[in-house]
Parts: sequence; C-alpha cells; structure tokens
Amino acid sequence: MKRCQTKTQLDVLLADARKQGLRIGFVPTMGALHSGHASLIVRAKQACDFVVLSIFVNPTQFNNSSDFETYPSTIEHDMHVASQAGADLVFTPEVDELYEGNLAVEPVDYGRLTASYEGQMRKGHFDGVVAVVRKLFNAVNADEAFFGEKDLQQLAVIRRLAKDEFPSLKVVGCPLIREEDGLAMSSRNVRLVGDSRRQALALNGWLGRLKEEVVGQHREVEAVLGAIEREAGTLETVELEYVDVVDGQTFEPMRSGLDQGHSFAVIAAQVGGVRLIDNCCLSCS
Ligand code: AMP
Repeated sequence: MKRCQTKTQLDVLLADARKQGLRIGFVPTMGALHSGHASLIVRAKQACDFVVLSIFVNPTQFNNSSDFETYPSTIEHDMHVASQAGADLVFTPEVDELYEGNLAVEPVDYGRLTASYEGQMRKGHFDGVVAVVRKLFNAVNADEAFFGEKDLQQLAVIRRLAKDEFPSLKVVGCPLIREEDGLAMSSRNVRLVGDSRRQALALNGWLGRLKEEVVGQHREVEAVLGAIEREAGTLETVELEYVDVVDGQTFEPMRSGLDQGHSFAVIAAQVGGVRLIDNCCLSCS
C-alpha cells in the first residue's frame, strides 16, 4: 500500500493503475478509521481492482470550530486499518493542496435534500461536503465511489452530485456498521466519556422502537415520534436535535406506506456534548 500527499503524485500512481486496465474504487474519509470505514474498503476491493482511500479532515464542512479542532487524528492506526482492509493507495492531502488558499465554498441547493435535517441543523455543512467531494472526485477520477449509509442524507446528496456532475461514476451505498451493543460506529464515539457512552445507546433504542411500533404494530408515526421526544426531554445528557421518518432518497417526511419504498427513521442528538447521528431502514426486513 502506498501513501501520497499531492494531486501530482496521485496522478502518477493512478495513471499507472489505469495503464494496467484496473478498475478504480474510491473511499473518501476523514480518518480515525474504525470497522465502518474498513467495511467500505473491503466492499470497494470486492468491486474494483485498485482502491484509493482518502483521509482528509475537511475544514469547510464543520459548522462548529471546536468539533473541527478536536476531530480525532490517528494516522498510523489508519494506515494499518487501510492496509488490512485492502486499500492500495492512501491519499492524505494538506488543506492547501485541495483548497489552494481559498476556503470559500459555493452554496449548494438540492432543495429539501440540502436544506432539511443535517442541512438545517448544520448550516453550510453540505456546501463543504459537496465542495470537498467534488474536488476529490476530480482528483481521483474513479470508476466507483463508496459511502456509508451511516450518513444517509450525505449519501443522497452525493448521489445527486454524481448524477449532475459525474454521470459515469457509480456511487455505492454500504451498510451501517454498529458496535456490539448497537451504537453506530463513529470517529466521534471516542469522545463519549463516562455515562455518555451508555446514554448514547438511547438513539439506536428509539430507532428500534419506531420500527417495532410503527411497522410492527401499525401505530401512528406522529404518536411514536411524540413519545420519543418526550422521553428524550427527560434525559439530562441527551439533547435531541431531530427524529423523523423520511424517504431515504428525497428526505421528504413519510407517514404511510412505510413497509415499502425507502422509508428510514433518522435521528440526531448531542449526547454529553458529542453530536451523534443514526438511522434505521423501516422498509427493510
Ligand atoms: P467519515 O470519516 O466519518 O467522514 O466517514 C467516511 C465514510 O465512512 C462515509 O461514507 C461514512 O458514511 C462512512 N462511515 C462512517 N461511519 C460508518 C459506519 N458506522 N458504518 C458504515 N459506514 C460508515
């Protein structure tokens, strides 16, 4: 496995892979790799011959500067995880290599997809995500790109970006990987200290409750959402940002036909000051 830090080095290494006729898979990340990231690399390696992993903590997608400043960085561990999972090349650019001194990003308007939920709670977040993914897609020029369903709304935004601007790129969504106790794996989980780690399980618990009561027992979505919101209000360390049932492609709220289509329960909360998101497919068996 090789590592490079500049687009020029990346071009040289990728030209070589292309000359050999290799199919190129791309997995963008912000590092502090865990098994969720590794699953994307494994999936990419199954579908493609040559897998590029990028590690870049993108400053323009953080709406909270302390979240950016304290974002975990574990490059030696990351190189080990990447190599074990089968990556061929790790691209670790500096901020200037991608942004060339200009951190101003264009606003992105994909309607509800960029304005609701994550887009509403984290103003400008998707502007930064689209800006960096566009730069990375241009730099790598892969055949397929792999994203986790953990960031379900981001996946829908990236699918739209690819449809509009990278029509020959195949975007592949990969399953959300959880800890044994059900907590969605996230690089931010290391910040869950003391009782917060246990309290964080409430998110997955509420998603399970939505699935059981709405799909299994045919209860009204609004009634179950209301009960969850009330319960969250009683927990001191949990600050619920949103919980809803949506179409996972459009992020329009869904209230019926939930056992078909792409219905997902989505949730975001601050737990002990750590922002967590999670989701659960309601239409999947
Ligand atoms: P991040 O480093 O958090 O920006 O994530 C990089 C990629 O890994 C994104 O496509 C995420 O959706 C994906 N990812 C992060 N956590 C998980 C997880 N628990 N399961 C599956 N994919 C994940």
